[in-house]
Amino acid sequence: MIWDKTETFTRKEIKQIQLNRLKTTLRRVYAKVPFYKTLFDKLNLSPNITSLDDLKKFPFTTKEDLRDNYPFKLLAVDMKDVVRLHASSGTTGKPVVVGYTKKDIETWADLMARIIIQAGVTREDIAQIAFSYGLFTGGFGLHYGLEKVGATVTPTSSGNTIKQLMLMKDFGTTVLVSTPSYALHMAEVAKKEGIDIKKDLKVRLGLFGGEPCSELLREEIEKEWGMKATVNYGLTEVMGPGVAGECGIGKGMHISEDHFLVEVIDPDTGEVLPDGCEGELVITTLTKEAFPVIRYRTRDIVTLSMAPCKCGRKTARISAIKGRTDDMIIIRGVNVFPSQIEAVLKEIPEASPHYQLVVSQKSHQNSLEVQVEPSSNFIANEYSINELKTKIQKHLKSVLSIKTEVTILKPETIKRTEGKSKRIFFKEVKHQ
Ligand code: ADP
Ligand code: ZN
Repeated sequence: MIWDKTETFTRKEIKQIQLNRLKTTLRRVYAKVPFYKTLFDKLNLSPNITSLDDLKKFPFTTKEDLRDNYPFKLLAVDMKDVVRLHASSGTTGKPVVVGYTKKDIETWADLMARIIIQAGVTREDIAQIAFSYGLFTGGFGLHYGLEKVGATVTPTSSGNTIKQLMLMKDFGTTVLVSTPSYALHMAEVAKKEGIDIKKDLKVRLGLFGGEPCSELLREEIEKEWGMKATVNYGLTEVMGPGVAGECGIGKGMHISEDHFLVEVIDPDTGEVLPDGCEGELVITTLTKEAFPVIRYRTRDIVTLSMAPCKCGRKTARISAIKGRTDDMIIIRGVNVFPSQIEAVLKEIPEASPHYQLVVSQKSHQNSLEVQVEPSSNFIANEYSINELKTKIQKHLKSVLSIKTEVTILKPETIKRTEGKSKRIFFKEVKHQ
């Protein structure tokens, strides 16, 4: 089933919609957001464009721009028209804050509905949302879309795996919404609890996102759960989940191009690459009221395909995310930047700035170990080491919202380099 007829529009029709909406968007941001006005004026760019190609002349917007304008300076509407705020992890301290008008929330629900329907959800389904609800966009986005298509929603949010499994069994849950790594973790916990997920549970379909899902990981999930696993993609800066999703027939994730104009660029030169080339995904929102973004650099590496799909949709598709152009790592669906950890360590006098991160994929789930050397005047004994460990762990938890392992190393264990130091190490990665 196809939720919205625009998904089947010809390229020419889509481009016409995009041009009209891009014209409006550029004029709006120029009139309403001083950041864009100053930028366009400086570059002598008129917001009155005549073709889609004109977009290439406009500058990119980066995560740093969003952070520099914390919290509300990029809003294109009055605060009284903003009905919701969400935020994604910032690299240091301050997060990126985004706003939504009532209409934005409706659009969000509608775009999520497209993705949910194309993944194969129906009104008959009982969907358990194991994404967290809060500043993170995942829980709410899926929630709106699933309700919109008429499925029954169980908003369990993340964590408390044993209870999640109990409810799944008792409610007869048929759809699981989570990060792919959490789905595998759930399968493991189920085994330990003596639950046979294929027999005792009725989950037939998974909607996964928030972090990369390799083909191996997908196969493992499908095998363990006996379900069909589909992947969807989004990011807070642009809307949250709902930007692109798989139809289950063709390869890649369909993008709602009447709402998002996508480009793929060479991350080093900024040059727009032809379709089919691998590069960084850049997104311009075409309908966002409260928080429009122009040429936002997602840092996600993809390839783009314009070929029509067997499912009947003619919208562009992005490949699975192949990597990032920055050093962001995703731990259990939470974005983590090494600079956040650095900032925490800086605040703790007993810790030195010499640290490294070990990401391991134990029990199918990413976990993060922070190894740090103590400061030179630290007097190490069993008691003080434990105390320091706990202190760092607590600080990290409050900043990252995830549990980390902390190891206090002996001074000068970490290799010193003159150039760019390698701080992130991956261990036991079985599912990448
Ligand atoms: P989300 O709610 O999608 O996690 P965030 O803003 O917290 O939103 O994180 C967005 C980032 O998460 C993306 O830029 C991308 O790197 C990663 N991400 C989201 N969905 C996927 C996916 N399906 N595959 C790979 N990476 C993803
Ligand atoms: Zn398709």
